Amino acid sequence: MTAQPTNLTGLDLRAEIDRLRKERNAVILAHYYQSPEIQDLADYIGDSLELSKKAAATDADVIVFCGVKFMAETAKILAPEKIVVLPDMNAGCSLEDACPPEKFKAFREAHPDHIALTYINCSTEVKALSDVIVTSSSAETILAQIPADQKIIFGPDRHLGGYLNRKFGREMLLWPGVCIVHEAFSETELLKLKAQHPGAPVAAHPECPPTIVDHADYVGSTSGILNYAKTMPGDTLIVATEPHIIHQMEKALPHKTFIGAPGADGNCNCNICPYMALNTLEKLYLTLRDLAPRIEIEESLRLQAKRSLDKMIEMAAGTVGQGDLGAR
Ligand code: SF4
Repeated sequence: MTAQPTNLTGLDLRAEIDRLRKERNAVILAHYYQSPEIQDLADYIGDSLELSKKAAATDADVIVFCGVKFMAETAKILAPEKIVVLPDMNAGCSLEDACPPEKFKAFREAHPDHIALTYINCSTEVKALSDVIVTSSSAETILAQIPADQKIIFGPDRHLGGYLNRKFGREMLLWPGVCIVHEAFSETELLKLKAQHPGAPVAAHPECPPTIVDHADYVGSTSGILNYAKTMPGDTLIVATEPHIIHQMEKALPHKTFIGAPGADGNCNCNICPYMALNTLEKLYLTLRDLAPRIEIEESLRLQAKRSLDKMIEMAAGTVGQGDLGAR
């Protein structure tokens, strides 16, 4: 079943979304990279880890996930009894695309003494092949709990993995995936921007390449960057992540100035995630109206993927001992 397009002319979409949300006992979860109009309608806004926890804890009957497909699948893995819908089923992710499950499986089999620490930006099948999932906000806490002599495969984001390797002095084997959005920032343009705003700190997401991260005063997840914006010195921040996060910064800190780091053409619009941008207010309305398109996951695959997500949630809370991890 898919949401059927219809003539929406004259419809008050916000009012209709509110009416349907109540009627369906639905909760709308939105990632920080969604458009401001969707963020402003959401019940909860957050990063991947925060939204996973919200999905697992909600008592709503329907989860409308305004993000990308792997995020909605994560919600379904953690809350299988809920109806989980995504406004546009084509909202994918370049990191997921870069890591086909059969290739990942072969890579794991070629390294039987390694555990797989895997970024949440991957398919359900890859989660099922992994030992522990991490998000950008939980990766450091989780890696710090893994013994130094434990060999690790880290995928699919080579920049996040490389950042963790440098920070923790590890030698994780890195899967060669990248986020096309964070890959697009330009070091030359960033340096020009820094020169125009002397003293303004730079906050960067660890999905950025080292050429950007090396100029950052703060490196962290979207929620980490938001927190940094509240405590940073000065009142101007250069932000090297998807620019829609700036909406929440401007709402929370209207007296401060936030500038999106530029791409190679000097125009930060090229850093808008094309997958996240597929979700629109119209599609959000249709998905609530039709309860489609829905996320469905075969049960044995779901249970297999849930193990690595459960491990993430336990380890992010610091409740797992070092002996609990080992190569498969
Ligand atoms: S911003 Fe990058 S990592 Fe996030 S969904 Fe878009 S392509 Fe994937």
